[in-house]
Amino acid sequence: MKIVADRIAGDWMSDPGTQDLMRSLEAAGYKALFVGGCVRNALLREPVSDVDISTDATPDAVTAIAAAAGFKPVPTGIDHGTVTVVVQGKPHEITTFRRDVETDGRRAVVAFSTRIEEDAQRRDFTMNALYADRQGQVIDPLHGLPDLQARRVRFVGDAETRIREDYLRILRFFRFHAAYGDPDAGLDAEGLAACAALAEGLDGISRERIHAELRKLLSARDPAPSVAAMSHAGILTRILPGADPRGLAPLVHLEAGEDPRWLRRLAVLGGDTSDLRLSKAEMRDLSALRAAVESPATPAALGWRLGEHLARDAILARAALLESPLPGNWRVEATRGAKARFPVTAADLMPALQGEALGARLKQLEARWLASDLALTREELLKGA
Ligand code: ATP
Ligand code: MG
Repeated sequence: MKIVADRIAGDWMSDPGTQDLMRSLEAAGYKALFVGGCVRNALLREPVSDVDISTDATPDAVTAIAAAAGFKPVPTGIDHGTVTVVVQGKPHEITTFRRDVETDGRRAVVAFSTRIEEDAQRRDFTMNALYADRQGQVIDPLHGLPDLQARRVRFVGDAETRIREDYLRILRFFRFHAAYGDPDAGLDAEGLAACAALAEGLDGISRERIHAELRKLLSARDPAPSVAAMSHAGILTRILPGADPRGLAPLVHLEAGEDPRWLRRLAVLGGDTSDLRLSKAEMRDLSALRAAVESPATPAALGWRLGEHLARDAILARAALLESPLPGNWRVEATRGAKARFPVTAADLMPALQGEALGARLKQLEARWLASDLALTREELLKGA
């Protein structure tokens, strides 16, 4: 796909509140530029989720100017020079131009700068170092546009040096390739070699940051080539011990038309997730998925047990891991199961049965009902009870 070379547009950009905010900085004599993901995605005609703004105004100046213009600035990351302004419910992160003073592979000591070139130099990939002014004119201090055009995720400057500054960039490299890279061209060779050589450095990165990147990587439309490369480079098992990437490509293939749910992909990768920061609900869903993958339950039985969405995930994951085709009518069947009601109640068995015996019989009848693919009626089930 061809991208427009040097102008962007979009509702997110022309939003009157956003424009007012940028204009107020300009009126005070500062630069105000869109930067990073919003510019990259606008050029690629991908949806823009959050608006990052870059400025040569210090955070104190940003705070004063935004407040005077009637906004409510919140110092969300003042150490990094970030002030967040919520405009009509949408957060705008305004960050002062920065340069790295000192890095230790995990966090950087930054100094504010008034030069866009310095700010661009400390960003991770050339396609993430693109800026645009309020009117949408793109500014490209590091020649990132040709890389974006070719959908090439390339480190700014020397890849190894950049990774040593922040090892999380290893995961970001694979994540951005999965999201925006050219699947046919593969990963940038220099970047890949640097990631493989420095993979150990990931051990020092906080689990929260790793979790967030892995989640975004696995939410991409097709993370399989990136994950395969990570596995080859010895990176996958560093963050997910015991994981096996082989089920992922078949899963993505089978998924056609389904949302790219990250937990389904994680279930197929397997491995030890105890170091991730899964929520209680995610842990519950993941173990339900893993159990379902190993069970012979029909799609309807899975729908009844897990609900429609998780059942679909389980059916897809199971087919991918067993290298078997999807069962006929699997979507409809999962829905049928999710809507079904087990026809027997405790009252049907009382008072003849009570307490534990009652519970055991209900379980047994439920198993018979599930084995019949939810076909047995109340009468049929009670006949033998
Ligand atoms: P998205 O939010 O869609 O995932 P994004 O490009 O906005 O993509 P963020 O993680 O929100 O990604 O970061 C915003 C920008 O900040 C990036 O585009 C990049 O320029 C810079 N950036 C973020 N994290 C790093 C990092 N670890 N090292 C260097 N630059 C970074
Ligand atoms: Mg972002």
